[in-house]
Amino acid sequence: MRCPPALNQSMQEFEEAEEMPQVTDAVAALLSAIVDSSHDAIVSKTLEGVITSWNRGAEEIFGYTAEEAIGKHITLIIPPERLAEEDYVLGKIRRGEKVDHFETIRVAKDGRRLNISLTISPVRDSRGRIIGASKIARDITERKRREEEREELLRRERESRQLLSDALKSRDEFIAIAAHELRNPLNVFLLNLQLLHRLIGNPAKVEQLRPLVEKAREQVGRISMLVDRLLDVTRIRTGTFELFRESLDLRALLRDVVQRFAAEYPAIAFSAEIAGQIEGKWDRVRMDQALTNLLSNAVKYGAGKPVALGARVERDTAVIEVRDHGVGISADDLGRIFDRFERAVGRAHNDGLGLGLWITRQIVQAHGGTIIAESEPGKGSIFTIRLPIQLE
Ligand code: ADP
Repeated sequence: MRCPPALNQSMQEFEEAEEMPQVTDAVAALLSAIVDSSHDAIVSKTLEGVITSWNRGAEEIFGYTAEEAIGKHITLIIPPERLAEEDYVLGKIRRGEKVDHFETIRVAKDGRRLNISLTISPVRDSRGRIIGASKIARDITERKRREEEREELLRRERESRQLLSDALKSRDEFIAIAAHELRNPLNVFLLNLQLLHRLIGNPAKVEQLRPLVEKAREQVGRISMLVDRLLDVTRIRTGTFELFRESLDLRALLRDVVQRFAAEYPAIAFSAEIAGQIEGKWDRVRMDQALTNLLSNAVKYGAGKPVALGARVERDTAVIEVRDHGVGISADDLGRIFDRFERAVGRAHNDGLGLGLWITRQIVQAHGGTIIAESEPGKGSIFTIRLPIQLE
């Protein structure tokens, strides 16, 4: 039986290097058959790193034929940034040590980078002197890819678990805030009812009934507003939030809203500067809600200073600005005030569910528009809505 050229050549070199015990044809054939049928690359090299044998597995993995590889330096398949590894490996081999399952990268003839697991052992002559190295390289690119895929899946799973836990935490916090916010007006309402109950049988106190009823009505209005907000969140989340577009005179709507606020908060100076006619197809109720939210915030956080509303048309866009001169918003908070349940200042500072701006943004976005906030802490804030003008 004939040995394949690769094995023949390496044996010749080893035989030339030192007298080796004679290998019978049968043993040589058996060895070469084993080496040749391996799917791993089996390669030998001299202590200088010159390739002396290259089996079929090496041809398959690295793409070089035995003729192309034998006689070349092993750096043929080592990527430039890993050249130092060769010194490390040869150093160990010279000391008679083995390198086991060394995971590294090698380059195939077509430039592909392969993940390789290397086992390198010293080759000795009959006197035990180290004359070279034999190495078995296994292509673990596929295994690495699967490992990376698994890692990525685990990472994503960890991430979604974290998101879920954040969402649950924020939902729990929200329920606590909502309960707290609902309890306040409910308590006032109950107190008023108790007073009414006490006064109702006393004809002399009839005049005191009216303000109590008015107060109770106010509190019910507040509870109903909070419940509406909660319902809005559900509507938006479930996609059942619909716009009813109609021809809308934005100027008239803005004036209405400002007049309402001026009547409700006589101590605050409201102004409205509206440049010309602004008409489009928008949802009247929802736009009223969005503007009301912005003006309520301007009142809540406006430190009693003037609140200005401005509106103008820029090309095919209606631009509405609500400006206050109150506490303002820090740069950190600006990025999150439009998120659900976000409240920049502490709970005790002001009432609210941290939903107004989120709902406002949903309304504006449903109209195809945008809303931004600019602010300087201590100086006030400007909220700007841009709405595409749609006439049809
Ligand atoms: P809330 O019900 O808490 O007012 P919003 O969604 O309307 O909820 O507002 C979210 C947060 O943004 C508020 O808690 C407040 O910290 C901040 N904010 C909103 N508008 C203003 C404003 N005009 N000036 C200062 N801070 C504001």
